Amino acid sequence: MKVYKGHILYTKDPGRFEVLENGCVAVEADGRVIGVADCPAALDCADAEVIDFGDRLLIPAMIDLHVHAPQYRNLGIAMDLELLPWLQNYTFPEEMKYADLAYAGRMYRRFVYDLWRVGTMRSCVFATIHTAGTRLLMQLFQEAGLGALVGKVGMDRNSCDGLTEPVEEMVKGYEALIAEFNAPDARVRPIITPRFIPSCTPEMLRACGELAARYQMPVQSHLSENKDEVAWVRELEKESSCYGDAYDRYGLFGQTPTVMAHCVYTKGKELKLMKRRGVMVAHCPTSNLNLSTGIAPVRHFLDEGLCVGLGSDISGGHDLSIFRAMVYAIQVSKANCQQHPKWPFLTLPEAFWMATKSAGRFFGQVGSFEPGYEFDALVIDDSDLNHDRYSLLERLERYIYLGDDRQIVHRFCRGKEILLPATWPAAAGTSAAGASVSAAILG
Ligand SMILES: [Zn+2]
Repeated sequence: MKVYKGHILYTKDPGRFEVLENGCVAVEADGRVIGVADCPAALDCADAEVIDFGDRLLIPAMIDLHVHAPQYRNLGIAMDLELLPWLQNYTFPEEMKYADLAYAGRMYRRFVYDLWRVGTMRSCVFATIHTAGTRLLMQLFQEAGLGALVGKVGMDRNSCDGLTEPVEEMVKGYEALIAEFNAPDARVRPIITPRFIPSCTPEMLRACGELAARYQMPVQSHLSENKDEVAWVRELEKESSCYGDAYDRYGLFGQTPTVMAHCVYTKGKELKLMKRRGVMVAHCPTSNLNLSTGIAPVRHFLDEGLCVGLGSDISGGHDLSIFRAMVYAIQVSKANCQQHPKWPFLTLPEAFWMATKSAGRFFGQVGSFEPGYEFDALVIDDSDLNHDRYSLLERLERYIYLGDDRQIVHRFCRGKEILLPATWPAAAGTSAAGASVSAAILG
C-alpha cells in the first residue's frame, strides 16, 4: 500500500471539483484507490509508504476516447478539406503505408511516446486494416505500460486500392489478436472497429457484430459526423431508420460496450436509441472545427443522460493533449450557446469530468480517486505558472488553459509510475538532443 500526498483535485460529479489541500490518496498494491483524506491516519494506513509531492497538484490522468494512431504523421497538416475528400486524399494514402512494419514501428512509437508525454494514460485507438501493424501498436502500448483499447480497422469498400480487406481475413486477424491479448484484466486489449458504414459492406458489419458478440468485445466507430456522410449512409442503408440504427441492426450499437465518435448530427430517434443502448459519445471538438464538420450538441447529450468523453481524433484534430480538448470543448459549446440559448455552455468541472471519470467508464473504474477506482494520476508542478496567490482551483484552471507536458512530473497508470525509457524517442528516429530532452522530462 502507498499513500500519495499533494493538492488533490478530481471530479466525482460533473457539477464541481473535489479539492483537498495537502490531501492524501491511499492506493492498494493492486493499483486501486482505497480512499482520499486529509491525513494518512484518517485512511487507516499509518504504516504505508508515504510519497509526498509537496506543493504540486495531483489529478486523475487524461483519457482519449477517440484517436487514430496511423494518422500521427499527418498531425497539423492537410486541413483544407471536409471529411470525405479528406479521407480519400490524405488519410487513406497515409494508412496504406502501415503495411510496412518498419514504418509502422517508427510512427507508432512516436505516437505512444507522445500520448505518455501529454498525460494520456488510457486511450481508445484506431489502428489500420493491417493485423501485424495493429499487433505492433498493442505491443508498444504494453511496453510503455499505458492502457489502450486498440482496433484493427474493418474496411472492405469505398477506399483506395490496397486499403481494404476481405471479411474472412478481417475475422482471422481479429481472432489472432484476441487470442494473443487475452490476459485477464489486461491493460491493452482489442476493440472491434468497423471504420464507418460507408467503408463496410453489410457482410463486414455483420462479421464485426458477430465477433463482438462471440468474444464479448467492446466496439468503436464513427457516427453522424458530417452532413455528406449522413446522406451517404441514408443511401447505403435504406432500411435503417437512422445512422445509429444501421449499426444496431448488425449488433454494433450497445450490444457490447460501444463508443461512437462525433455524433454532431445525432438527434431524435438516434439519440433515443443511444440512450436506450447505453452507447457512449466521444466528443472531438478540434476535429469538428478543422474538418468544418459542425458542433456536437454536448449539453443536450448530457441533459439527456448520455455518457460523453473527449477525444483528440488525431489527425482530424491537431492536438494530442486532452487538456486542450477540454478547452476546445468549452469554447465550441460557447459558440453553440449563441445559436441555441437553451443549451448553456460547458463549465470547467464538466469538461474535466468528461475527460476523466465519464470517459473512464469505458475502461471500468478509471478517472476518479473514489474508492475502488484504478489509480491513474498525474502530478503537475505548476510553479512556473503559480507566480501569485492563486487558489488551487485557479491553479488547475490555469494549468488546463496555459500548461503543457513540461509541468507533468509524474504519471501513474493503475497504481504504477510510468517512466518511459529515454531511448524511446531516439529509437523513433529523433536526434540525440531529442533523447536528452526526454531524459530531462523523465528526471
Ligand atoms: Zn475518427
